[in-house]
Amino acid sequence: MSEPAAAGAPADPPTPRGPAPHPTGPKIELHVHLEGTVRPATLLAMARRNGETLPASTVEGLTELYRFRDFDHFIQVWIITTHVMRTEADFRQVVVEYAAEAAAHGAVYLEGIFSPWFRVARGVRVEEIFHGYADGAIEARERYGVEVRLTPDIDRMLSVEDALEVARWAVRFAERGLVGIGLGGPESGHPPEPYAPAFALAADAGLAAVPHAGETEGPGSVRGALDALGARRLRHGIRALEDPALVRRLADEQIVLDVCPVSNLRTRSVPDLAGHSLVALGAAGVPCSLATDDPAMFGTDLGVEHGVAAGLGARSRDLYAAGVLGALCDETTRDRLRRLGEATDWDAVERAALAAAPGALAAVGAASTDGAADARGGLAGAR
Ligand SMILES: [Zn+2]
Repeated sequence: MSEPAAAGAPADPPTPRGPAPHPTGPKIELHVHLEGTVRPATLLAMARRNGETLPASTVEGLTELYRFRDFDHFIQVWIITTHVMRTEADFRQVVVEYAAEAAAHGAVYLEGIFSPWFRVARGVRVEEIFHGYADGAIEARERYGVEVRLTPDIDRMLSVEDALEVARWAVRFAERGLVGIGLGGPESGHPPEPYAPAFALAADAGLAAVPHAGETEGPGSVRGALDALGARRLRHGIRALEDPALVRRLADEQIVLDVCPVSNLRTRSVPDLAGHSLVALGAAGVPCSLATDDPAMFGTDLGVEHGVAAGLGARSRDLYAAGVLGALCDETTRDRLRRLGEATDWDAVERAALAAAPGALAAVGAASTDGAADARGGLAGAR
């Protein structure tokens, strides 16, 4: 196993530029699976050039495939579509293209997740995966002014030994933008506790624990992520709301939840958006950031997500502040993100987000905007 080399120069000379002010405000996204950002046309092109087959051969066919019956069905589709990514160039392309898309919605900082062991199981060399993503993160900053950090996921179906290997590779790339490790995949039937040794190994090297928890399982899974894995943040965490003592703990310890309402709707982890716990958790003092999870598969993007969140009653300034708090970056970067927030006219941003809310809710097929209006009214009453 070779040591990571210095990043090579991008093929095209990048044009450095900083993040420009965006009408819907600066955005920090802490929960996005890079494999799940690849739009259907690009996925089909990657399949063709890598000689891989997909269950559908057209954009329309793939889009149809992305109607998920439940969370397990989503995981099945995720695995059989994302295997078309095979080369260092593929992984690099995925990061750079998503940074371009997110920057167009005002993103200034992203934490990208990737699941290396699904690729390794199909014969891809680990080095290609880590180098490709790490190089892509550098190119993304140079070309689009978006800071990108990386957090590989341990899949809940992996053996403990394979999980330790993921953690060791993450540690090896800690100087190249790898800032934490996560736990993903089917939460039901796969509790976090067995993976504690992998998270301890990563923690010893200074990598944060950022597992999924409280998405399809309840408070017990969230407690396991906190106690056994030492979670610094939680991906989703929405079912914590079922346990008031746990909500108080999350608020007291300022554990940031990286919340993805459209994902929860698409995987049927929530029955509808009107009852989503984003606003209630925020009102209880739990910092919530906002993210897309797997935007290409869930028919969403950062713009839509922020419109939806505004429709539910969330405030853009709070979502951004939670992002600043939760970001696994160096303190210089965090100061820069904080200053960017302080320089933003959040009243104007929130007016724009509320104006976009009905269209965003309609775009994701939310059952009722009346419920969202109720939620907004309820939150206003709580403040
Ligand atoms: Zn996720």
